[in-house]
Amino acid sequence: QLGINRSTVLNAYHELKADGYVDSRVGDGTVVLASAAGPPAAAAPYPLAWRHLFSQQAIRSQGLSLRDLMALASRDDVISFAAGVTAPELYPLERLGRLQAELMQEYGRRLFLHTPSEGIFSLRESIGRLLAGRGIQAEPDELLVLSGSQQGLDLIARAFLDPGDVVFVEETTFFYALQLFKASGARVIGMPMDENGLSVDWLESALTKLRPKFMYTLPTFQNPSGSVLDLSRRRKLLDLAYQYQIPIVEDDPYGELRYEGNPLPSLKALDHQGYVIYLSTFSKLLFPGLRVGWAAAPAPVIRQLKQMKQLMDLHASSLPQYLIDRLLRQDFLPGHLDGARREYARRLQVMHEELSEQAGADLVWRKPQGGLYLWCRLAEEINPVKLQVKAAEYKVAFIPGEVFCSEPPSADFIRLNFTFCHPELIREGVRRLARALRESREA
Ligand code: PMP
Repeated sequence: QLGINRSTVLNAYHELKADGYVDSRVGDGTVVLASAAGPPAAAAPYPLAWRHLFSQQAIRSQGLSLRDLMALASRDDVISFAAGVTAPELYPLERLGRLQAELMQEYGRRLFLHTPSEGIFSLRESIGRLLAGRGIQAEPDELLVLSGSQQGLDLIARAFLDPGDVVFVEETTFFYALQLFKASGARVIGMPMDENGLSVDWLESALTKLRPKFMYTLPTFQNPSGSVLDLSRRRKLLDLAYQYQIPIVEDDPYGELRYEGNPLPSLKALDHQGYVIYLSTFSKLLFPGLRVGWAAAPAPVIRQLKQMKQLMDLHASSLPQYLIDRLLRQDFLPGHLDGARREYARRLQVMHEELSEQAGADLVWRKPQGGLYLWCRLAEEINPVKLQVKAAEYKVAFIPGEVFCSEPPSADFIRLNFTFCHPELIREGVRRLARALRESREA
């Protein structure tokens, strides 16, 4: 084991980079410039010290960049289990081409004009129908179309959090939520979890003591752990929210991607007091690049979020809204999701079997009933720093677990996505990973 942890190394790396000591060019790798005289001489005679001008919020958001970690994963010769992306083979390219041509015919130049900040009415109606299928009643004025549901998290952070406020998140949670809440200056507290989701018993005393502004939770196929909050805990969580008058932000990108077992109602569907702000997205139902997600919340909350969205980007891009609305109106989603669920269940099974065969002694995981990820604990003998180096050498990518942790974790984990790669690539990727794991064992 090295005597320092990875965050320290990564932080040092980012400091060096910010100060101009790190030089990296595609193909040349990374070079740390060891000059004792400081960064290389600047070309400009009066270089502006930009870094000292950044706001407190900007500095708080500097930390670790997932995109940096993903740089390896996006190379063509690397098998990537890193990003949480749906299978590109399933994207309905022909239909999208046809629809786009039809929309051009029908709407002409209107397609390229501004649309309302809350999203086009027709799409909000369609989303309302989709939500009705999830047992959620939402009128168009209780919906806000977002440029991806991650934008909803940013808007919520801006709308509710001042520096020093407390926010509760699950102890492992969505990386960007963690970063956004921290960037707002809030105190981010991790709620303990087990295989049935967050511990509601812990919450009772914590809510009295810490009074968070809101609780952020992913009750269904949690990212990264894959866990599902059971029904009695869902009810208890809502009761606690009502009792202590604390709203809940429910993030539900994965609820419809269930491959086994019976569906559970979302918190939003169970909430009859209007305490839940619900986020979801077409990124996991269809594909991520069009950047369309939505929030469903009581009308006063939607009005406030819309106001802030207007300042941010005016509205979600117009053409993607029309395209997705058309797909929904043609009832494309149910059939598409049936196919996607079958394919993802198969890919999950392939990864699960191949890992059991190849890496059973080095990793421990529970096979999830849905979602996109396997959350794997590393055997104690595996050196996680060495593993990253070896995985890069064998060209297989994953996300190290610590980036999802709100508190320092007690064990090391990795997150593996099983939906992006087709089964043959999954097999090969797991073989590479297994080799990397074996070679990362401490003697
Ligand atoms: N929430 C969670 C839990 C996610 O995993 C993701 C995407 N990985 C998002 C939100 C963001 O989705 P979008 O592409 O709609 O911004």
